[in-house]
Amino acid sequence: MNRSITGFHQDDDGDWVAEMSCFHNRHIRHQPPVKNAQWVLSEEGREAHIGAPIECPLCDRAELPEGLTQLGSAGPWDQDTLPSGLLNAHRTPEGRWGRLQVFDGAIDFQFEREEPETSPARRLEAGAVQPIPPGAPHRLIPAGPVRLELQFWGRRP
Ligand SMILES: [Zn+2]
Repeated sequence: MNRSITGFHQDDDGDWVAEMSCFHNRHIRHQPPVKNAQWVLSEEGREAHIGAPIECPLCDRAELPEGLTQLGSAGPWDQDTLPSGLLNAHRTPEGRWGRLQVFDGAIDFQFEREEPETSPARRLEAGAVQPIPPGAPHRLIPAGPVRLELQFWGRRP
């Protein structure tokens, strides 16, 4: 998924790490001729890249970033009380990760990727947790009895 750069820091080895709008981090290494990112070595270069788009493979894999706190929750719901809006494609806002937790039963979960790439629905059984990246369209597909909760994770301002 496309994110934007929000800041930079250096790791223990002095390599530069881009902080992204999804709360993931990604190394930006200047290793010519393989990777040319000389700009990351200067403060002007880094500043010029604040807000620049960047691909986040961790968001593609729906990995919940480290260091977030739970900001709220909705539910729990069962198959009868589940809001119908969750069955249509919808997305969590920027800066908010969703975390779907299934307590009992099962439900199918599907990311709606950009065409023509489609992502198969996956069955979430009791005990399953599905992280949902900010801005990623997704929907729930009923699969019988279920009890689940939706949590919202992020950083406190
Ligand atoms: Zn990410």
